[in-house]
Amino acid sequence: MDGMTMEESASLRDYSTFRLGGACRVLVSCDRPSALQDAIRRLVADHEPHVLIGGGSNLLISDDGYDGVVVRYCSEAPRIDVDGSVLQVDACTELDELARFAAEHGLEGLNCCTGIPGTVGGAIVGNAGAWGKQIGDSLRHVTLMDDRGELREAAPESLGFAYRRSNLQQSGDLVVTAQWDVSVPQRPLCGWHPGFPTKSASFPL
Ligand SMILES: Cc1cc2nc3c(=O)[nH]c(=O)nc-3n(C[C@H](O)[C@H](O)[C@H](O)COP(=O)(O)OP(=O)(O)OC[C@H]3O[C@@H](n4cnc5c(N)ncnc54)[C@H](O)[C@@H]3O)c2cc1C
Repeated sequence: MDGMTMEESASLRDYSTFRLGGACRVLVSCDRPSALQDAIRRLVADHEPHVLIGGGSNLLISDDGYDGVVVRYCSEAPRIDVDGSVLQVDACTELDELARFAAEHGLEGLNCCTGIPGTVGGAIVGNAGAWGKQIGDSLRHVTLMDDRGELREAAPESLGFAYRRSNLQQSGDLVVTAQWDVSVPQRPLCGWHPGFPTKSASFPL
């Protein structure tokens, strides 16, 4: 299927920022929503134990690895689209790519994501941010996938955002896409956050 690859006995350290961890039985890499939905539905139908990861920047993986299927939802190419007043981003997009897009298009509200590794999905689950702002502050809504592979839309108010937390950490729902409202007046150019050079020097991506 387009957007999906599979690797048996994959070393998970290759998919974790800290380069730690053993192998999983199978790694399924998905770089678009349709591939993710297809993968999850097949795994559920086959009663296969599975877990989802994004960019692997907030994971400490055991040396014992994982005796099941790891689904990796991460895209090297940014999957970002502006349709009228809506900025739509597939959650497999790297967060820094979204911050770059926002900076180049003068869209406020996302420059707190500058220089943070990982995917948009991982950032929403952990309400990532910096400099007193987080990604959940400006979100319009998200598309979630439940444990049967069914999609639904959710408003940010329903996600229980707090400092580096959301109720997605308990619910197990997957973040498939995210949308921002760009109809509100934007500053002509908000650019990179002024703290970026310091952050970039401390933690190169
Ligand atoms: C050098 C460095 C600097 C960092 N700086 C910051 C910072 O300034 N601010 C900050 O907030 N964080 C920071 N982090 C932490 C990390 O970048 C964030 O937590 C990031 O948002 C994790 O995203 P990820 O895609 O890598 O998630 P992963 O590490 O792959 O996964 C983390 C958790 O999220 C879940 N998950 C991932 N994607 C999805 C999805 N689409 N749907 C549902 N669940 C999902 C996984 O199951 C897992 O439980 C830093 C990390 C590093 C290594």
